[in-house]
Amino acid sequence: MGEPQFVAPNRGAQGGGQRPDANGAPDFAHDQVGALHCANHPTVETLLRCNKCGKPICQRCGVRTPVGIRCRECAQLRRPPNYVVGPGHYVLAALVALPVSILAGFIMQQVGIFFALFIGAAAGGLIAEIVCRATGGKHGNALAALVSACIVVGAVAAGLLPLLLAHGAPLAAFMSGGYLLQLVLRLNIIYVILAVGAAFARLR
Ligand SMILES: [Zn+2]
Ligand SMILES: [Zn+2]
Repeated sequence: MGEPQFVAPNRGAQGGGQRPDANGAPDFAHDQVGALHCANHPTVETLLRCNKCGKPICQRCGVRTPVGIRCRECAQLRRPPNYVVGPGHYVLAALVALPVSILAGFIMQQVGIFFALFIGAAAGGLIAEIVCRATGGKHGNALAALVSACIVVGAVAAGLLPLLLAHGAPLAAFMSGGYLLQLVLRLNIIYVILAVGAAFARLR
């Protein structure tokens, strides 16, 4: 803690009314900033203040944000509730996005690459919109990445399922190459790129 010689003049100037602590040493924190008490925990002394509203906050109440330490209320204000996404929302988003993406993958295989240029982005936007409705309007980069992954997985699965149904080959045979080539040929890559771009832009 502080050197008594350094603190002494300051104490004198304030009238010397502060209580010494149990050891008789000067109460350093009181002399420096006055006694701050956390707004949520009146018994906890602190040196922190929220850098937006100025409310005293303790270590437990302070929230680290890109612009400094803030109280919980001010930290929340920076992030609208739509961007607070819980684990349940991710599960729900995947459960909704995956079947829709497989269906879209099937349709896009029939439609072909040329028409995918025109409707690929709309299809991705539609998938994102469905997820948005299902999760109550949640947004965020992680959610956007998850739905993008579902679109890719859905498109691959849509290409894979007919191959497996037709040939019933074990996984080793599938990996040997012939299947992979067929899968790549079936995959509507234009749709996948446009849909992922549109879904990401919609959900991030
Ligand atoms: Zn605040
Ligand atoms: Zn507190």
